[in-house]
Parts: sequence; C-alpha cells; structure tokens
Amino acid sequence: MTLTKRILLAMILGVGTGVLIHLIAPSEDHFLRAWLARGLFDGIGQVFIASLTLLVVPLVFVSLVCGSAALGGHSRMGALAIKTIGLYLATTAVAITLALGIGQLVKPGEGIDMPGEVEEFQVADKPSLKDTLVGIFPSNPVEAMAEGNMLQVIVFALLLGIAISRSEHKASHYMQEFFGHLNTVVLKLVMILMHLAPYGVFCLLAKLFADLGWSAIADLALYFFTLLFVLLLQGLGVYSLLLKLLTGLNPAIFLRKMRSVMVFGFSTASSNATIPVTLRTVEQDLGVDNRVASFSVPLGATINMDGTAIMQGVATAFIAQVYGIDIGLMGYLMVVLTATLASIGTAGVPGVGMITLAMVLQQAGLPVEGVALIIGVDRLLDMVRTAVNVTGDAMVSTVVANSEKLLDRKQFERPISNED
Ligand code: ASP
Repeated sequence: MTLTKRILLAMILGVGTGVLIHLIAPSEDHFLRAWLARGLFDGIGQVFIASLTLLVVPLVFVSLVCGSAALGGHSRMGALAIKTIGLYLATTAVAITLALGIGQLVKPGEGIDMPGEVEEFQVADKPSLKDTLVGIFPSNPVEAMAEGNMLQVIVFALLLGIAISRSEHKASHYMQEFFGHLNTVVLKLVMILMHLAPYGVFCLLAKLFADLGWSAIADLALYFFTLLFVLLLQGLGVYSLLLKLLTGLNPAIFLRKMRSVMVFGFSTASSNATIPVTLRTVEQDLGVDNRVASFSVPLGATINMDGTAIMQGVATAFIAQVYGIDIGLMGYLMVVLTATLASIGTAGVPGVGMITLAMVLQQAGLPVEGVALIIGVDRLLDMVRTAVNVTGDAMVSTVVANSEKLLDRKQFERPISNED
C-alpha cells in the first residue's frame, strides 16, 4: 500500500475509532475516554505534532536560503514576491466575499435565539498596519527562530541567501553547497516522519472525535453545514477553476497529489505544523521549483488563510443575523478588509481564527460575545478550514511557478514518486 493510502486509511480508522469511543463511552470520565483517548492517543498525537513543528524552522530556513541564493541574481525576484503576495490576498478576498454572499443567501442565523447571559470575551489588541509591517523585520534571528516567527525567519533567510549569492568569495560557493546538502538531510527527516504519520494521524483523530461535541453541532447545524459547504466550494471548486484558468493544468491531478497534505492539515489543524509536508509535496510531487516553493509555502502558511477568512465571513453574517443587526455594505467591506489583514502576521496554529474573528466583529460593530455562540462547534471546522488553507498555499505556489517558468509540468503530471 502506498504511503498516501496508508495515511488516508489511518484517517478513516481514526475517525471511526473516535466515534465508536464516543458512542460506547458517553461520559467524560469513562476509562475509554479518560485513559485511551485523552491519555494514550492524545499523548502520541502530541508527540507527532511536536515532531512536525520541530522541523518547521530548520526546514524553512535551510530551504529558503537555498532558494534565495539560487535566485539572488535573478531579476524576477521582486516580481515573484509581488505575484505571490498579490495572489494570496486576492484568493482570500474571493473566499471571504463568497462566504459573506452565501451567508446572506442561506441566513443561518435567522430563527436562532439571542443568547441571554454569555461569557465576556476578551478581544486581543488589533495590531496596527505599521506594527505588523515593522514586526516582519527581525532584530535578532535567534529570537525569531526560537519563537517560530515565520515572517521574520523568512526575511532573515532571504537576506542571507541573497548575500551568499552576491558574495565574490569562494566560500559563498561552499556555503551554497552546504545549505544544499543540509536541505537534503532535513527533507529526509520529513520523509521519516511521514512514514510515522499514519500512527500520528490515527491517534489525533481518534482523540478528537471521541471528545467532539456532537450535540452542539446539531444545535447549530445550519451554520455548521453552510460553512462546510463554502469551505468545500473553495477547496475543491474555486482552486480547481483558478488552476485550470491560470495554468491549464489538470485540477484532478492537483487535488489527488494534495491528499496527504490535506489530511495533515485536517488532523493537526495547523498550517504551520503542516509546512514540511506542504513544501515536500509542492516541490516533489507538483513540480514547483525550490526557488518559488521555499518562499511561497511558509509565507502562505502565515499570511494566506482562505478557509479562516471563509469562517469569518459566514460567522459575521451569522452573528449579525442572530443579533438582528444590519451592518450595511460598508460594514461588510470592513469585514473583508479586516479579515484579510488580520490573517497577515497571525501564525497558522489551531484556533487562531477565533481570535481574529473577535477583531473582525469589533471592527464591523458587532457584539464580540457572538464568538461564544459558535466556539463550541469550531474544532471540527478549524480542521476543515486548515485543509483549505494549505491547499490554497499549494495552488498559488503552482500558479506563480508556472508563470515564472519554474514549474516542471511533466513532473506535475507524473504519478507520485518515491513515496516509500
Ligand atoms: N488553524 C488554522 C490554520 O492553522 C487557523 C485558524 O483558522 O484557526 O491554518
């Protein structure tokens, strides 16, 4: 059985086992839930996520130094960056507009009772645009890496790569080679971890589904399914259409090759932790040159969150309907703008979308306590939207690489190679 199939099977078995435990052991302190799900499965799952996260900084750093050193003299570097960022922002804007539109059409919030007493919800301070931009530049590369501040790591790696490529000294040639070898070794580590993935995925999903609040989902079924529908529309429809229109490539191949990345995004609910798998798939299976992928993938994991933006769109429409507030066209434009900007600078980790949603609501003049209405059903949705987020990163990487003639179209069409 190929690795992808093993990972997919682990996903199905994990979900099945979790649901079964939930049915057999409805009470929280039943030993199956307390010991097996929240004990053993959770422990293994956490080790798996920690191992993935462990690879993120070294991989992004080493890979991007290689990429930018190879691109250093390339006059298209600026164009490549502008195209990538532009496409990320554009796809996010499309996503949130779609979500707001369908949210208006379906009206999932109508008929839902306004909550009486709700918990106070603290809104995190909204960073100003200036702070966000200044915050991209590291003053201490070690601190940036220690904190896993992806944008700062990207800036440092870019600068180092450019300096290596422009240095006349023969040591620069050795450094380029050294980083090249290091990159091969780190990718090997990613591969080792991918072979362990079926166990990690199984444990993560079994634990999550054993603990999932099904009754909360039933209460908010219309919100839940509307959001799920828009997420699937973006992940399967919009991306396929854009890929076909902008590159002429076959979207079915793209989606098939993205299956394991989606499963990783789904089970970890973190675009950040998925970076190693996204990067490997984008380069080795989709045929995107390292010079594009090493920049676009980690950047996308941080600034491109289309699934999250969709949640914010549907949630805003839902909360406005529950509270019976019409925020008007300006309000909705504000939502598009804030949601797009809020995703920049927030790392792709579980649940971060809920924190930025509070900012979006506040900006649109809606009650921030509305977050309490939907937080109970957010876990599963977080997993699905992370799968959409990482698919969006890979799609944009492919489009940019194609437009810069840095895509190996033959490799894109070839079946997945050296899996085992
Ligand atoms: N979990 C998402 C991600 O990592 C972010 C979010 O929507 O909460 O991409």
